[in-house]
Amino acid sequence: MRHKGPLKQFDEFDAWSFSRSGERIRSDEVKFDFPRLAGDESISASHVENWEISGRINAKSESVIRFQGRFSAEFSCVVCGSGVQHVIDFDRHLVLVTSESQADVYDEETLDEQTDVVACPGAINLRDWLEDEILLACPMFPKHDACSDVAGRSWRDSESDEDTDDHQDDTAGDTKQEVQRPFANLGDLLKGSKK
Ligand SMILES: [Zn+2]
Repeated sequence: MRHKGPLKQFDEFDAWSFSRSGERIRSDEVKFDFPRLAGDESISASHVENWEISGRINAKSESVIRFQGRFSAEFSCVVCGSGVQHVIDFDRHLVLVTSESQADVYDEETLDEQTDVVACPGAINLRDWLEDEILLACPMFPKHDACSDVAGRSWRDSESDEDTDDHQDDTAGDTKQEVQRPFANLGDLLKGSKK
């Protein structure tokens, strides 16, 4: 029977008293599983390196829960379709209000980029909430910088293999010289002006 397991306290978590007492929970103290992250079709592999959840009362006497941490995940690149690894740092501050209607009327202009308002009428599942934050931090359009690198590498490889590129190389060389000449002159001008 696991109904009194050590994680049970986080199933019906009181975020309000947690923030009032300025508490903190970290991944080196509590082990959570993230089944939705693991089961997400668009994420082929993931690893949550660390996380920390802390509570506080802000200057406006509001309850705030902060989620921060780091995870890595592999997505499919929206450009080339192959796997792209991302290491993602997340850091979000959530101002608690007691109802959706209160959240709706909250003046979000007063909040910075990392801060949001969330309705928290009662107890919440803290593990679920953390997983929400992790999923929210995933890039909407994952793509790698390596896309162009991969293309560039294959272009260079084929260039050295194919004789037909020789003529293009000469042309490219000429263009380079023409570009370099005014640049060199500019260098002389700068030298001259310094002396
Ligand atoms: Zn790509």
